[in-house]
Amino acid sequence: MTEIDWNDYSLETQAIRAGHKRTHEDEHSIPIFATSSYVFASAEEAALRFTGKQPGNIYSRFTNPTVNAFQERLAFMEHGERCLAFASGMAAIMAVGMGLLKAGDHVVCSRSVFGNTVLMFQNYFGKFGVETDFAELTDLSAWEAAIRPSTRFLFLETPSNPLMEIADISALADIAHRHDCLLIVDNVFCTPVLQKPLTLGADLVVHSATKYMDGQGRCVGGAVIGSESIIEKEIYPFLRTGGATMSPFNAWVFLSGLETLSIRMKAHCENAFALAQWLQQQETVETVHYPGLPTHAQHELAKRQQSHFGGVVSFELKGGQEQAWNLINSTKMLSITANLGDVKTTITHPATTTHGRLAPEVRAAAGIKDSLVRISVGLENVEDIKQDLLAGL
Ligand SMILES: *Cc1c(COP(=O)(O)O)cnc(C)c1O
Repeated sequence: MTEIDWNDYSLETQAIRAGHKRTHEDEHSIPIFATSSYVFASAEEAALRFTGKQPGNIYSRFTNPTVNAFQERLAFMEHGERCLAFASGMAAIMAVGMGLLKAGDHVVCSRSVFGNTVLMFQNYFGKFGVETDFAELTDLSAWEAAIRPSTRFLFLETPSNPLMEIADISALADIAHRHDCLLIVDNVFCTPVLQKPLTLGADLVVHSATKYMDGQGRCVGGAVIGSESIIEKEIYPFLRTGGATMSPFNAWVFLSGLETLSIRMKAHCENAFALAQWLQQQETVETVHYPGLPTHAQHELAKRQQSHFGGVVSFELKGGQEQAWNLINSTKMLSITANLGDVKTTITHPATTTHGRLAPEVRAAAGIKDSLVRISVGLENVEDIKQDLLAGL
């Protein structure tokens, strides 16, 4: 069979077919290679593999055929040269920092990122002499003003969690590159189906595969995608040594998740759009945050940058924590859990869960009010989702 260049194919096709190197058993589905190590034909071959002079597997902390298949497939989908898989999204973010940063370096991070990402930069990289400043996601001049000669990279999520604010990736890539910094985008909320940051100028994309890639809330995993040179020189050596590796079983689950990612994302977006419009009409709802609504501050940017508006909707109720908790407690079907990107609709109170460990002033600066509720809209019938919310509204 001739070798296919998957770059010539569309994302839907890459998601189903790229990355599989069929073995001598002629299997149709990608096998799980449950092996920690690999054997060599001779002592000479072992030595060549260890020096990297001969390609091939050595040990599953850093290469495994099932994990490789996931990495290759996702690299094509994100239009990146190389992808590395990790044990979790946070392990991927840790690896980016451990690979790229040294004592004395500086990072500019969006104020509106995943709570653990804030803690990673502040508490852990901070412990080793890396300083982080936090910028308002949508304020380009604030990003530029925060950059110092020692700034190594800018880090953001767009849309942000839970307020669904949109950052202008191309504009921030220009700012980063003008100051000799890298731009790193956490693309969890969009997945490559809705947005490809590398094509907009970002240097690295990070993922939590735990969310939409799995899509059914089963496994924890993460990934980093970017150019061959950054991945090979800066990130891979840390994975090999640090060992926050994705297991072959989880890679296999994520591979099948990718196969349906495109149709699932479209369905998530349609349900979320319908729910956001409906929530806007409810009397007890103060504000709805969804980039698909014309009332959203970056609606035009979202239209330009993303192919659809995403599967997460958040909204503030009239009142405070009591009203938010009442609504959450009154649901019968929705899952009360902080996870997102699942076929099951989940509902959460960010101020006391995902963002509960942040200092109150940090949380306030990020705009996360006590009356805020976040819904990751699943693939149930949207009328049933509305019905479940109605009692508490
Ligand atoms: C969940 C999440 C992470 C962390 O991923 P884990 O797989 O839970 O470690 C990072 N960024 C975003 C936006 C997330 O939603």
